[in-house]
Amino acid sequence: MRVSRLLVCICLLALLCSCTAPEAALPDPPAKQEQAPETLPAPVKLPEEDLTAEEPEPEIEYVLLLSEPVWLLGRLTELYCADEIEWAALADILEAAKPLNTDAQMLAGVETIRFQAQDYVPLADAAQRLGLEWGEAPDGLRYLAKRQTIGQIPEGWNVPVLMYHAVGDEIWGYSDLFVSEAGMEEQLQYLQENGYEPIWFSDLAHIEDYEKPVILTFDDGYDDNYTVLYPLLEKYQAKATIFVIGNAMGSIHKMTQAQVYELAASGLVSIQSHTYTHGNLSAMDESTLRQEMERSNAALAAATGQIPYVLCYPEGKYSHLTMDVAKDYYTFALRMDGWTYQTGMDPYQVPRSFVSRRITLPDYQWFLTPSGKIS
Ligand SMILES: [Zn+2]
Repeated sequence: MRVSRLLVCICLLALLCSCTAPEAALPDPPAKQEQAPETLPAPVKLPEEDLTAEEPEPEIEYVLLLSEPVWLLGRLTELYCADEIEWAALADILEAAKPLNTDAQMLAGVETIRFQAQDYVPLADAAQRLGLEWGEAPDGLRYLAKRQTIGQIPEGWNVPVLMYHAVGDEIWGYSDLFVSEAGMEEQLQYLQENGYEPIWFSDLAHIEDYEKPVILTFDDGYDDNYTVLYPLLEKYQAKATIFVIGNAMGSIHKMTQAQVYELAASGLVSIQSHTYTHGNLSAMDESTLRQEMERSNAALAAATGQIPYVLCYPEGKYSHLTMDVAKDYYTFALRMDGWTYQTGMDPYQVPRSFVSRRITLPDYQWFLTPSGKIS
């Protein structure tokens, strides 16, 4: 039954034209693609048609052409092309989907072909089954990422949202923004020993599951969040939210894209948006605001495979226009000041308590005290 499709293999050049430029805006493909035809095996012979029903169908080897890679759930994945369809290795898709706890059964029954001893499936079909969305990253490559849907949030809970920045003892900037490693550990230990449960914003939809919820947020995406904070989060199994600046990944003192991916895949860190350039949102016109939010989301969706749903206003600056535009892209947006967040409050002005380097444990306890259901 695959015989007619097999003929496709012969028409290699025609396929190359139809497949390598699916988006006009995409840049030239990487150089390695030019070598692809050299690596192609010779078209295989057609197997003899077997009319006996009991005999297993002979395995047909397809020939695919290397196409432009795609960010598939945060991993740069090779794509192949045939019959004007883009094919990805099934193993690559399952590997990329692991952090999302995707059920492999979701891909059961998707059309599969063999190429160089691997199974390939049409990427668009697989993406649809996995509930993924397409977009274009600032690097020009397309990405497939998951959008988080947040259910209705019950009112009447106090959830302290704590604001951190850098974590560590190597201070290279404004020292108040650096919580010491020992201080961070003391605080995480305090949370654990006193029954506080660090949650993500998405957990607010089932806030009744938590007696003493708290949200730990870290602004700017500093590299010590990976080297110092992450091991502590693992040790105490504490969830955190880190706000990454879209165009700053890999720059000095900031996490690389690979580090951001690893945190997002860890199950402990939710990577969210701190805009694309960390500019002053209160001074931007609507189109600039949209650009900041869209580019930031695309950069993070490509890096992590998850489309951000929380915005952290850089330096806490925002206007009514900022909030209006933010509503098109995010479920929550965060200030840099204020007191405890109560569910039911304006979700585009979520207040936070600043945990500075000088904070004492009694101050910290004071921030946490309101946590829980409002009686
Ligand atoms: Zn910031």
